[in-house]
Amino acid sequence: MNYQTVIGLEIHAELLTASKIFCSCSTAFGSKPNTQICEVCIGLPGALPVLNEKAVRLAVTAGLALGCEITENCRFDRKNYFYPDLPKGYQISQLYLPICKNGHIEIDTDAGKKEIRIREIHMEEDAGKLIHGKDGETHIDYNRCGVPLIEIVTEPDFSSAEEAVAFLTELKKILLFTGVSDCKMEEGSLRADVNLSVKPENSEALGTRTEMKNLSSFRAVQKAIIYESERQIKELEHGNSIIQQTRRWDEDRNVSLPMRTKEEANDYKYFPEPDIPPLVLSKEYIEEIRKNIPELPSQKKERFIAEYGITEYEALVITDSPAMSEFYEKTAALSDPSQTAKWIIGEVSGMFAERGLSPEDSRLIPSDLAEIINMVTLGKISRSTGRDVLAKVLDDKVKPSEYVEENGLLLIDSADELLPLIKDVIGKNEKAVLQYKNGKENALHYLLGQIMKATKGRAKINEVRDVLKELLK
Ligand code: ADP
Ligand code: MG
Ligand code: ZN
Repeated sequence: MNYQTVIGLEIHAELLTASKIFCSCSTAFGSKPNTQICEVCIGLPGALPVLNEKAVRLAVTAGLALGCEITENCRFDRKNYFYPDLPKGYQISQLYLPICKNGHIEIDTDAGKKEIRIREIHMEEDAGKLIHGKDGETHIDYNRCGVPLIEIVTEPDFSSAEEAVAFLTELKKILLFTGVSDCKMEEGSLRADVNLSVKPENSEALGTRTEMKNLSSFRAVQKAIIYESERQIKELEHGNSIIQQTRRWDEDRNVSLPMRTKEEANDYKYFPEPDIPPLVLSKEYIEEIRKNIPELPSQKKERFIAEYGITEYEALVITDSPAMSEFYEKTAALSDPSQTAKWIIGEVSGMFAERGLSPEDSRLIPSDLAEIINMVTLGKISRSTGRDVLAKVLDDKVKPSEYVEENGLLLIDSADELLPLIKDVIGKNEKAVLQYKNGKENALHYLLGQIMKATKGRAKINEVRDVLKELLK
């Protein structure tokens, strides 16, 4: 029998606020454990939460950027459970009236464009972190308690790992470009839970699903989906049924393992959070946020194609991050936009990767790159000299035109300078000259090579070839 895989994602994104969602403790990552906590975020009796407006603003921003309706009268709910990383014994979340509903993202698939529906986005607070020490003891860092999160829940609209990864890639870009989250997966700012079931190809009804928690890289999402889908199909083919459960993805062994049977909303004894008044968002407030949403990555991509005449592929690569797009636009304003795209995707990206630099690094400023590109396009230096100069800018912070000047790298374009060099090479290579005159084309390549060497690559090879042939007639 043929099976279809059905996937829904739940994505947690930490909001890019300076302070936590219900207190003024810092959200900075990587501080000494338990130095960014107070009575509110670790839930000491009697402490009262106060909602951070910036967190609300970012959640609304995310909703609008993802085409959602914003809930004008929303509310927080208390989700009760015990776990050592949650000292309060409950998490403030939103069950009944999430802040955003009914959005979507369009992704590219092999079969064309596909719309993935976003069921809702709700706000909640993060829990602390358990650290399983090498000493065999488990330590608890409460710094993350109360860091603001949004949870983005999709409909079960994906049918493959590629679709899920395409969605996550686009979602991550949108959250980055709108400043909602820094999306640093390695720091846990963006984590995905994968809900997955399989069903016989022609069946309408969805199968029983499992949920894999906290996948922290796109690669892990991809592998987990492939593994879990095959596992479920095997179970069904052996005549077993799928148990609805939460599973853990083991990144080292590349397997999913059962954690617990799936809990229901009832198990959490949800009730309206009594310490936070209902949240009323005025139309004016929502419209003001809508007006200030920056250009989204997909819009930017289309504009780059139209405005700068670069290819779809180039535009896609360049709009990968806000820093890269900004760097491109600033450089393209000072040099040929199409050449700029090629340099950034080719030489610049390559050299950045070799050196472990990111586009955020300010080591290369747009005017320096533009200067190099202009020298190459105007025929003042060769492309390979351009590459060398770029490396010098990155490694030794040289100024491109000064460096070219001081090291005599300008292409030779006066015959006065070129002619003696060519004559000299002819004089020194009688044998090759003779061979060429006897019809051996290879000898010409050899002579050309010698001349280019003598000019340190500063001659225009076509010009040299013409002059050389003329002299050898
Ligand atoms: P819960 O209440 O347990 O969180 P939801 O109905 O809210 O369950 O769904 C959670 C996630 O699981 C959503 O992303 C949804 O799309 C996905 N999902 C629901 N049913 C299935 C299914 N049968 N197969 C795959 N994914 C599913
Ligand atoms: Mg859920
Ligand atoms: Zn606090």
